[in-house]
Amino acid sequence: MLSRDVLADPVALTRALVDIESVSGNEADIADQVQHALSGTALKVERFGHTIVARTELGRPERVVLAGHLDTVPHNDNWPSRTEGNLLHGCGTSDMKSGTAIALHLAVTEPEPRHDVTYVFYECEEVDSARNGLKILADGRPALLTDASFALLLEPTHGLVEAGCQGTLRVLARTMGRRAHSARSWLGDNAIHKAAPILQRLLGYEARTVIIDGCEFREGLNAVRVSGGVAGNVIPDECVVEVNFRFAPDRSEEQAAAHVRDVLAGFELEVVDSAPAALPGLDAPPAREFLAAIGRPPRAKLGWTDVARFAELGIPGLNYGPGDPNLAHKQDEHVEIDKIVEGADVVRRWLTTGP
Ligand SMILES: [Zn+2]
Repeated sequence: MLSRDVLADPVALTRALVDIESVSGNEADIADQVQHALSGTALKVERFGHTIVARTELGRPERVVLAGHLDTVPHNDNWPSRTEGNLLHGCGTSDMKSGTAIALHLAVTEPEPRHDVTYVFYECEEVDSARNGLKILADGRPALLTDASFALLLEPTHGLVEAGCQGTLRVLARTMGRRAHSARSWLGDNAIHKAAPILQRLLGYEARTVIIDGCEFREGLNAVRVSGGVAGNVIPDECVVEVNFRFAPDRSEEQAAAHVRDVLAGFELEVVDSAPAALPGLDAPPAREFLAAIGRPPRAKLGWTDVARFAELGIPGLNYGPGDPNLAHKQDEHVEIDKIVEGADVVRRWLTTGP
């Protein structure tokens, strides 16, 4: 179990959490240890599967959420952790046990925050959204989250504030033809050739850049997969181009889908996956205070994160964590130790002294 000394030191705690194996689906052990660490505090602790929610009940006028996932992607010869100077290496160091460690460290060591705090440590972020612990909590017990006016998600941002997030939409564009022997191709109708105009339109597409609350969101509409073909001597009767649209938070999912339908008008389209974007939400007072504590301007989050789930619940949120997002899921994943120390200081200052 995590000792008092380890819980009191966010760097040692990061290392300890990394060294508890918790590839998605295998979070029982780490959840047990987090729950045990929290059970010695005044927090009200509840568990749902391998997701732990711990709430202060101090009667403060505002409540904020601090959230981190407990799982990692599969190891890649990069576990357990090792240190090298200022770097802590290993699977999960950046994404996102360093951030989760900051939240757990504060949950255990900060009994008097000036806002009430809901700490969420959740399972299965790195896999299908249906298994995501935060989604399951938001669907099943939303009241545990919706009394908060702001959420801080400690995903890797390299110590900057990343606001909101882009949405993502995947669409299949299908062309149909007629099979024939390729020696008598005039008897058939080549579905792969008919997909050329789809690629042409994507090639000529000019993606928008949108500035929202000072953050630059850069969209992208791209073919990410093409499938078709029967055999080396057969004219293909079907071709599918999979298209991914990453869209800025001034579009809803419906508007994003309508835009793709416009661009690819005339083709048979099927939306297979969609997740909404989240507005930066920098107007909420706790968000403004957090930005003041960081003292650096925010930038747009270009990936999709669970901040969007908070946005769906009406809770504005920011991403802030010590890890480098460019190292997430990579074999040489690591985190800078001084960034963990700085992150823990900044979040504690925000939670205790205010602007
Ligand atoms: Zn993550």
